[in-house]
Amino acid sequence: MLNPQIVEILLDFVSLFFPRHCLACDDSLVKGEDIICTMCMLEMPQTDYHTNLENPLQNRLSYRIQIKYAMTLFKFSKSGRVQHLLHELKYKNHPEIGVLLGRVYAAKMIETNLSNAFDMIIPVPLHPSRKRKRGYNQSAKFAEGLSEKLNIPFSDDFMVRSMRTETQTRKSKLSRWENMDGVFGVKAPQIIQGKKILLVDDVVTTGSTLEACAHALLKAGCCELSIACIAEA
Ligand SMILES: [Zn+2]
Repeated sequence: MLNPQIVEILLDFVSLFFPRHCLACDDSLVKGEDIICTMCMLEMPQTDYHTNLENPLQNRLSYRIQIKYAMTLFKFSKSGRVQHLLHELKYKNHPEIGVLLGRVYAAKMIETNLSNAFDMIIPVPLHPSRKRKRGYNQSAKFAEGLSEKLNIPFSDDFMVRSMRTETQTRKSKLSRWENMDGVFGVKAPQIIQGKKILLVDDVVTTGSTLEACAHALLKAGCCELSIACIAEA
């Protein structure tokens, strides 16, 4: 077995020729940093909704969905670092971003005693063909990081998504809502009955996707529903 000091020297040597970059700002990462640089971690705009549970997102969504808490880690701005990071997560084969951000958000939830507020974590499912193409569900990766740190089970298999919805961004808000209705189904309602569910997604925009998913979970008998996303647009 190699001496750990020698391994470290070799890794330093490799990083001279193959520098690793921050996936939010593209700057080189220094020793001890991984995936996202310290500067980005400190400067990306956080909502702090976990410390303010009657927040604007909760107010906005609770008109339409019967929810307990609604939280997002970041505020999304066009061409900003959060947008860049989410693009890398969704389209550039970097599922590790989702896991990392899940762990980061879980640590914040633990600080505010939210760790016992949920029994199960469920990500918004992707359509199977899109999941096959991408290789992973980015929301499930976020769920995985949350689950690991909060010590609450998660599964990407409880829900099904029945049709493609990629043309919806071109449609009006009303027709998009109608189009989402009935898209999601729960495979094993008996597992979620009476449970406090944390439903997670990458970005919340109009909230139509979360709303449709939430309806399916509430209809299937979950007793309390909360929402956590990486970013709010
Ligand atoms: Zn950075």
